[in-house]
Amino acid sequence: MANLIDGKAVSAKVKAQVRAEAEELKAKGISIGLAVVIVGDNPASRVYVNNKKKACAEVGFESFEYALPEETTEAELLELVEKLNNDSRVNGILVQLPLPRQINETAVINAIRPEKDVDAFHPENVGHIMIGDYSFLPCTPAGVMELIADTGVDVCGKNSVVIGRSNIVGKPMAMLLLHKNGTVTITHSKTKNLKEICAEADILVAAVGKAKFVTPDMVKEGAVVIDVGMNRNEEGKLCGDVDFEACKDKAGYITPVPGGVGPMTIAMLMKNTLTAAKQQNGAV
Ligand code: NAP
Repeated sequence: MANLIDGKAVSAKVKAQVRAEAEELKAKGISIGLAVVIVGDNPASRVYVNNKKKACAEVGFESFEYALPEETTEAELLELVEKLNNDSRVNGILVQLPLPRQINETAVINAIRPEKDVDAFHPENVGHIMIGDYSFLPCTPAGVMELIADTGVDVCGKNSVVIGRSNIVGKPMAMLLLHKNGTVTITHSKTKNLKEICAEADILVAAVGKAKFVTPDMVKEGAVVIDVGMNRNEEGKLCGDVDFEACKDKAGYITPVPGGVGPMTIAMLMKNTLTAAKQQNGAV
């Protein structure tokens, strides 16, 4: 059996650090607030938003929830974003995706002031990530980097393969591995010889969105296998992209789902919100 990477334990460490720093700021009269906006009643989004509110309470942040009806117009949502941009109690703004069809997600992301964009989706923040000079890292890839660091495996010079090229996971993930001097390959649905490419990976990150996509023939003996996927199996249970049972004896380190990347995403959101508050208060 591979070494299990414990996302709950690593995320608890990150949140404890954030909490300690938040208390120091509070002692100086600086309180920290995160606004979470949800539009419609997507059950998965509801769970994510509740988990984010819970995490805010754990680290001592104030959370402001805005639950808007499914039929909210783009103009109404943009108006709220503008209000939050100008609200000094709000250090970070998170608009839970996906949004209903009538709302252009790009327009909403672009409307969030970059210094409050704790998801790091705004093009200005994406540009900073590309250059390697950033305040906020996108939460999921940043969480993956923490998990890799926790294994003690040095990314430098390692064959690092990312499956998936989305703007929120795959692309920034590849960039963060590159910043750590990994030799990075990004793969996607048009990649030829995907299995062979993955089988050469010392570090394999799966962000596909398909249960049991990664099979043992795609895993190099002793590799670090990180499973970003969040899917439902036939019984409706949460599962990742990696066939965990089949791959766990071949990998050197592997994340479970649940209990791997998921808790890290939220912990990194708290870290970004702390960074935002520090910057907005000239405390860095
Ligand atoms: P996405 O936007 O749907 O992207 C999926 C990527 O997988 C695309 O780049 C797609 O390639 C690629 N892909 C699909 N089928 C493939 C195939 N047969 N072979 C190779 N590549 C294939 O999804 P996402 O937003 O990146 O999310 C990926 C997964 O991570 C989902 O399960 C999501 O729920 C999960 N997630 C988890 C967290 C967390 O906190 N744990 C956070 C975010 C996302 P093309 O570009 O060619 O279509």
